[in-house]
Amino acid sequence: MQSIYTKIRQEYENNRNSALQEVEKKKEELYKKEPKLLEIDEKIKKIGMEMSKSIIFIDDDTKRESTVKALNSQIDALKDEKNKLLKKLKLPEDYLVPNFKCKICEDTGIVGSITGSKSCSCFRQKLIDYTYNQAQIYNIDKENFDTFDENVFSDKVDEKAYNSKKSPRENILVIKGIAQNFVENFDDKNTKNLMFTGGTGLGKTFLSNCIAKAVLDKGKTVLYQTSGRLMDLIMDYRKGDNENFDETQYEELFNVDLLIIDDLGTENMTEARRSELFNILNTRLLKSSKKHTKTLISTNKDLKELVNYYDQRIVSRILGNFEVCRFFGTDLRLSNRK
Ligand SMILES: [Zn+2]
Repeated sequence: MQSIYTKIRQEYENNRNSALQEVEKKKEELYKKEPKLLEIDEKIKKIGMEMSKSIIFIDDDTKRESTVKALNSQIDALKDEKNKLLKKLKLPEDYLVPNFKCKICEDTGIVGSITGSKSCSCFRQKLIDYTYNQAQIYNIDKENFDTFDENVFSDKVDEKAYNSKKSPRENILVIKGIAQNFVENFDDKNTKNLMFTGGTGLGKTFLSNCIAKAVLDKGKTVLYQTSGRLMDLIMDYRKGDNENFDETQYEELFNVDLLIIDDLGTENMTEARRSELFNILNTRLLKSSKKHTKTLISTNKDLKELVNYYDQRIVSRILGNFEVCRFFGTDLRLSNRK
């Protein structure tokens, strides 16, 4: 069976090649229309080569620096000339810049640094998408802060039913504010993790998606999974049952910037699962003081029920380090059904 890595690498290669080919095609057409552009590009290429030679072969530091500087200003002048020509043709300056899906790694999946190269966060995200993220995270096109509409929430206060002096609408606006603050201050170590509690159809998943999208847009990695499926994956990994789930993927549970565990407390609970969950929460909390990772948990259960379901150890971990947002109101999926 083709490994998931091979599959993703192939996808990257295809993306990169098609972005490069597209530029080549555009260039060919442009050169026909404006032969001066070809001339300029060839000059730039030639100067580039001269520059590499100077860097390698000129031993004298001062001389090398001044040569490189002179060549650089020649290139800048040529680029200016090129931009003017593009403008004349009514084309944007970046017309000949390859349209890579990821501007950071230019669709190679790898970023280099002095200490060596590592996987680009887009590549890690892709792997997380394949391994964990279900279709639900791809509702983020529809479910995000831009499409958030508080008007679907009732503005009627019902203290007896909801145990709050706020209407569901006021309440959801407070939670939305907390969620936006969470995203904005994601890298702040004082920003607490989040826990969404409340029944189904009250907007927990919607708001989780809003957060997922906003955090992904910041170039961070996001892993989204229901606790049941998550525990199944880990148990299979322990048994060695899933060839597409290796240590790197397992480690993402601890390394991913934002871990979203949905539907906590609906899975079949065993002692082994309890300790896996505790391990994940605990390790992430310990790590988060160094690298600012965050966790978002959502659950239909209230805290009392969670104590019964898991144990005090897990619940006190949550209580001490999570900001709890309680969702209440009427099930939107039922009231909005046409
Ligand atoms: Zn990348």
